[in-house]
Amino acid sequence: MKKLLKWLLRGLGLLVLIGGVYFFFVLPQAVDRKANVVVDHAPYAISTQAQALHDSLRVADLHADTLLWKRDPAKRQTRGQTDLPRFRDGGIALQVFATVTFVPKGMNEGSNTADKDAMTALTIAQAWPMRTWGSIYERAAYQAQRLQKLEARSGGNFVIARTKTDLQTALAARETNADILVGILATEGAHPLEGKIENLDRLYDEGFRLIGLQHFFDNELGGSLHGVSKSGLNAFGREVVTAIAKKGMIIDVAHSSVKTVEDVLAMTDAPILISHTGIVSLCDHPKRNIPDRLLAQIAERGGLIGVGYWEMAVCDTSPDGVAKMLIHGASTFGVDHIALGSDFDGAVTTVFDVSELAAITDALLRQGMSEDDIRKVMGENQIAFFLRNLPDA
Ligand SMILES: [Zn+2]
Repeated sequence: MKKLLKWLLRGLGLLVLIGGVYFFFVLPQAVDRKANVVVDHAPYAISTQAQALHDSLRVADLHADTLLWKRDPAKRQTRGQTDLPRFRDGGIALQVFATVTFVPKGMNEGSNTADKDAMTALTIAQAWPMRTWGSIYERAAYQAQRLQKLEARSGGNFVIARTKTDLQTALAARETNADILVGILATEGAHPLEGKIENLDRLYDEGFRLIGLQHFFDNELGGSLHGVSKSGLNAFGREVVTAIAKKGMIIDVAHSSVKTVEDVLAMTDAPILISHTGIVSLCDHPKRNIPDRLLAQIAERGGLIGVGYWEMAVCDTSPDGVAKMLIHGASTFGVDHIALGSDFDGAVTTVFDVSELAAITDALLRQGMSEDDIRKVMGENQIAFFLRNLPDA
């Protein structure tokens, strides 16, 4: 009997061990691989002219979720769509790093509630610190700290821009060292505030300069494009928007409801962009993309429209399809307001990763965009926007 018990306990211990190995080592990678897919494809043919042009660009992208996943961004990876070596291969000079902090269970484009969080299991499985398990603020802070560590061990080749001067200095250094890459921190939704205005100061101190107002669900500030209420900004939302403007931060209305975007545009002159979106007049997915008339207002205000590469943004996800959307955006809203907003590593399926961005330059050139305009949409618009709108000091 004693011997039987001993064997049973050993068996149980083995099962727990196997379960643990699966949960902490196999599951995070499997989720990552399933979420961030680059469809198998032959290498894209790039003309000599396009490659030469691309090599001379300062490419900039308004939204990637690199920090969400258990990978070392300093190392070249075989999964996902981004890491520092691949950013450099793609010619990226400036990348906005967003922080995802809450994922509604059963997430969809149309109508999510915030009752159940599917992210807690991922934070535990990825061995994030215990303080992040139950706190949305801590999840944002932890991802910011991951980026700060990346900066600290980069030997000066990766710089987080917190001010105009940071950005100017890094871009000047990049003239002689093409490896230099600049990051800017963003929240994907302002729920890390946890309903407390004083947390905005804490996010600022962690380096956040872009505040996305909503993600996939209605939050303490107001309605999401994919939430239940479709409502606008509530009193706390208005308080936050005012405080963002006062601190010299930038508002991102990607994922906000139509009413929220209208409310923001009506109440503030703060710098504004929509970091990753499609354009309904070319790709009719109104559950994911706000109406053209609001994009026009963002452009009129000197803002940026970041075009994504996934199906609900562009309909045609090929480099030619993305180029077509960029050209459509430039002709509809003005070339100075169109930008790249990849959403790489944001649980999207694409047909190229960040190392292959020359394929977009090639497609833009073939479709007749001028070299000057290509330079703008591929990065100079974004760089100019941040040079205008990051805090002075
Ligand atoms: Zn997003």
